[in-house]
Amino acid sequence: MLCIAGCASARSGVAPARPAGTPAPARESLHVSVVYPGPTDIIQTHDSSFLFGAVHGGAGPASLTVDGTPVPVLATGAWLAWLPLPDDTIAAFRLVARARGDSAVQDVVARIAPRYRPPAGRAAWIDTTSFAPSGTLALPLSEGIRLAVRATPGATVQLRLPWGATIPFLPDTLPGEPAWGVRAFATTTAAYRLPPAADRYVAWLPAAALCSDGKSACATLDVVVGRDSATARWPLTIGLVDMTFPSVVVLNDDTAHTGTTDSMTPGKSVPGGTYNWFFPTGTTAVLSGRWNDQMRLQLSKSSAVWVNAADVIELPAGTPPPGGVVGSVRLQPGPASVTLRVPLPGKLPFQVTEQERSLTLRLYGVASDINWMQYGGTDSLVTRMSYAQPAADEVTITVELARRVWGYRTRFDGRDLLLEVRRPPEIDPDRPLRGRTIVLDPGHPPAGAKGPTGLWEPVATLAVAYNAKALLERAGATVLLTRTDSTPVELFPRTHFAEVHDADVLVSIHANALPDGVNPFVNNGTSVYYFHPRSAPLARALERALVAELGLRDLGMGRGDYALVRPTWMPAALTEGLFIMVPEQEAMLLNEEGRGRYARGLVRGIENFLRERAREP
Ligand SMILES: [Zn+2]
Repeated sequence: MLCIAGCASARSGVAPARPAGTPAPARESLHVSVVYPGPTDIIQTHDSSFLFGAVHGGAGPASLTVDGTPVPVLATGAWLAWLPLPDDTIAAFRLVARARGDSAVQDVVARIAPRYRPPAGRAAWIDTTSFAPSGTLALPLSEGIRLAVRATPGATVQLRLPWGATIPFLPDTLPGEPAWGVRAFATTTAAYRLPPAADRYVAWLPAAALCSDGKSACATLDVVVGRDSATARWPLTIGLVDMTFPSVVVLNDDTAHTGTTDSMTPGKSVPGGTYNWFFPTGTTAVLSGRWNDQMRLQLSKSSAVWVNAADVIELPAGTPPPGGVVGSVRLQPGPASVTLRVPLPGKLPFQVTEQERSLTLRLYGVASDINWMQYGGTDSLVTRMSYAQPAADEVTITVELARRVWGYRTRFDGRDLLLEVRRPPEIDPDRPLRGRTIVLDPGHPPAGAKGPTGLWEPVATLAVAYNAKALLERAGATVLLTRTDSTPVELFPRTHFAEVHDADVLVSIHANALPDGVNPFVNNGTSVYYFHPRSAPLARALERALVAELGLRDLGMGRGDYALVRPTWMPAALTEGLFIMVPEQEAMLLNEEGRGRYARGLVRGIENFLRERAREP
């Protein structure tokens, strides 16, 4: 399961089969358990939802109805239902199980996330849960911000500012957006096209200090329909960022080694967005904006990046912004890697981008004075180095390689930035696994999805990992597991483990679950995720092999922003071989034969990837 939020079965507990302390009867009496939704789950959709659980006990095969509609029950007892939801915040379902003259009734009350309801008897209304953005914002004076709100269709909508100006709102004519889960998982694209919502309005607000104490001199939204009107304070505070006396910050991901997802501070193009930069502790930059718990750093005149405010420490006022020139660079060949040493005027922000046979290091806030590019002897891996100055304050250095990229890593050594490029392993094309170090990562705990009978994802992934380990070892590989028992292991220690053991390949093993609102009967199957370009062939080889072994629908491979595929030191992929919430697929994970199939898919995928790389010219 790799849901970021709203993932159904991850939150659920299994309803106990019988009260604690009750002795087990000779044969369990017939009863129904519901895994999802559990007592604390709140369904985050309003059309239809899935329910799943199992029928236990009784004699002979069982049948089940939910509100009178038959729901198939697997031999394992597992069942899965897709049901319409009432227009309410609770939904009640009656489950009736029958088995050879016996019957059991279970009433389930599910909670549904509330949604805004226009007040009765009013023509003018404002959905006060829809203000975007809200909270605390800081921007330079030259910028502005897009506002969006829901209100009565066909109304006159404007924002009144404390100094008397008004900002008009226009109807948002763009089609609506489906829930993220639909985009991530649904196999039909029809659900992507929602009609424009007549109640959505947008506007542009130029940056100006607003509502600084959160109470006085705030912006007010007016909605007028005929003679009716509605008014609400926009819950937004705006501060101004002075770029002429810039505020300089240093990044300090001080929690990096205690279990967060990466060892570096990730940078994002949008607040809270996907990771696109990775900054070592000590990187300095200029602050240029803030939105709630996200801070924007100006890397150069044309590049800005959002980071978590918790990772940012402001330096004393008057600290000059980092910058200067990049001097002569030098390559240092080593037995397992070759290192590019770049002298810098400070710990400047940078980004490494990977192409098939080259790595480009982009340095922000600097001009080049790269008089020398010293190769330090003839190295078989690096064919050429070059540099460019794509902007007045950005420098790129490109290292071209004789082989496809296997891995790399970066660190500061004083003021020097080191880019260490890994030498690809020597692979025997006839026995590609011989001598290789493979790190397998049994996904979870913490967290993990649950299947209808209560099978927990971490139990299944560990069993599959042990199965694959035995097969890989038989083929000559050294196999290390990031977890060997049920003790929870956070994400960063797992990727760190793979790096310190110089894994040739890292594969994280999972079983999938859907977010609320996606129909599991038409959206399920096998998928594999990767992050860096070098890992795409690994993901593709795993996807093909898993589809062949498991015989499920091919949902394809995808680039996914997951911690376990972000390490740069080796190719890495995350497999979602099947959906643990689907009864037939949970059943596969419950027996040795099915676990063996998942494991064989992993082994064959890794082997095919290595063979392909061994034959690379
Ligand atoms: Zn998972």
